[in-house]
Amino acid sequence: MAVLALSQRLLGRVAAFMFVAAGLADLATRGFPTPEGVDTTTMVVVDLSIIVGGACLFALPWHRWSRRALLVFVPIALGSVVWRNWALGPDNATYSMYFVVAAAWVGVTFRPGTSLMCSPMVALAYLVPLLVHHEPLGPSVGYLAVTVSVYVVMGEALAWLATRLRSAEQADGRRLQDMRRLVTVSEALAHGLDGRDAGKVVAGHGASLMRAHDAEISFVSDSAGDDDPHSPLVERCLSEGRIAWAENGTSMAAPLSGTSGVVGAIELRGLRVTNREYAADLAGAFATQAALAFERLWVTESLIDASLQDELTGLGNRRGASAALSRLAPGDAVVMLDLDNFKSVNDEFGHAVGDDVLRRLGAFLRDAVREGDSCARYGGEEFVLVLRRAGTRARVSVDRFRSDWNAGVPITTFSCGIALHVHGQPPGTTLRFADEALYDAKRAGRDCVKESSASVAATV
Ligand code: GH3
Ligand code: MG
Ligand code: MG
Repeated sequence: MAVLALSQRLLGRVAAFMFVAAGLADLATRGFPTPEGVDTTTMVVVDLSIIVGGACLFALPWHRWSRRALLVFVPIALGSVVWRNWALGPDNATYSMYFVVAAAWVGVTFRPGTSLMCSPMVALAYLVPLLVHHEPLGPSVGYLAVTVSVYVVMGEALAWLATRLRSAEQADGRRLQDMRRLVTVSEALAHGLDGRDAGKVVAGHGASLMRAHDAEISFVSDSAGDDDPHSPLVERCLSEGRIAWAENGTSMAAPLSGTSGVVGAIELRGLRVTNREYAADLAGAFATQAALAFERLWVTESLIDASLQDELTGLGNRRGASAALSRLAPGDAVVMLDLDNFKSVNDEFGHAVGDDVLRRLGAFLRDAVREGDSCARYGGEEFVLVLRRAGTRARVSVDRFRSDWNAGVPITTFSCGIALHVHGQPPGTTLRFADEALYDAKRAGRDCVKESSASVAATV
């Protein structure tokens, strides 16, 4: 297939070589009887000059010039045919040969239409020697018509074939490039996505792979929100579960089909597509990789969430509490909360009721804290709250939690210990101070809040 990706240098050299070959071939006929009236010395001079001219053309730096520069060969070739036949007399039998060879070269080298454009020059080159030698034109008209027609038909046919082969070769090259890019993108997606801007990253990969102007990812679950509805193209793609094209072919939406079904769609805009079937295949292959990458991301995220979550209350678990404590900043308050006499609740009302109290307390605490604060079930009937930047106002907040809880006439009350985190103190120490304060609250008779004297002393 690479046959027609011929370089300027090669085409220039081929043309120059043809001059040399034509001169040599003509020279070889010197062994045959010379046509009547032709001087052998003139013949040798003409042939040698064509050979030398060809050698000079061979040495020129054709690769530095554009392909159009090669067009100069056409008048040079026709000019040398004219000169040869002028000097030696026209010879109809071998005459047409030169034009056929020129037609083949022009056809392979230039766009369709070039041979036709050069045909008047060919006719002129044919006629001039005849006119110079006062030959009767009548018998040559047939030869001329055949020569020019063969020149044009052959040149155009070869140019058309060469163009077809060249564009097929280019399409093959582009497909190979696309496949390589698809593999690279798939590898990047397989390495995992960053949850924060996964959508943007995948859309960027899709746009560059498809050479689209831009791309956007929409997820199936988004359709619930009326604020940002899907585009009509995405809507059609999701409802039909297959690629949807805009009427003018410049946009398409491909479904993101993973192992759990269609999870969303990628919309590609500003496409320049010549073959929709091929573009659909490429986009489909990419969308599958993207869907699998998103599913992997979501599974990982849900595993991380599950590993930090308490099943009964839906709050963070002990690991979640540790994660919140590891982010403690000076001024944050750590609250240790423990249900009072919870063992008796279980004993009196049963474990199921005890569980229900834990669930209610979980929901209550989730509502009570501000955004950015965290609450986690540390173990059994103990909870840890981190009140961000609460400082000394933490006491007021926690007292309010306690009175609000009691206002609901619960089965049992709770006690709290508060410690403020200070600069340079390990989070574990702050938690221990909160636990000691909780112990103080229990000793003080329960259903009350105590602050850690150690951390208060540290803040003074
Ligand atoms: P105090 O006021 O001193 O904290 O007394 P308490 O009875 O609350 O403390 P204790 O440590 O003696 O008892 C804790 C009880 O919490 C014991 C256990 O049965 C109960 N508990 C721990 N986890 C769960 C749970 O998941 N569900 C239920 N229903 N009870 C639990
Ligand atoms: Mg307790
Ligand atoms: Mg306890």
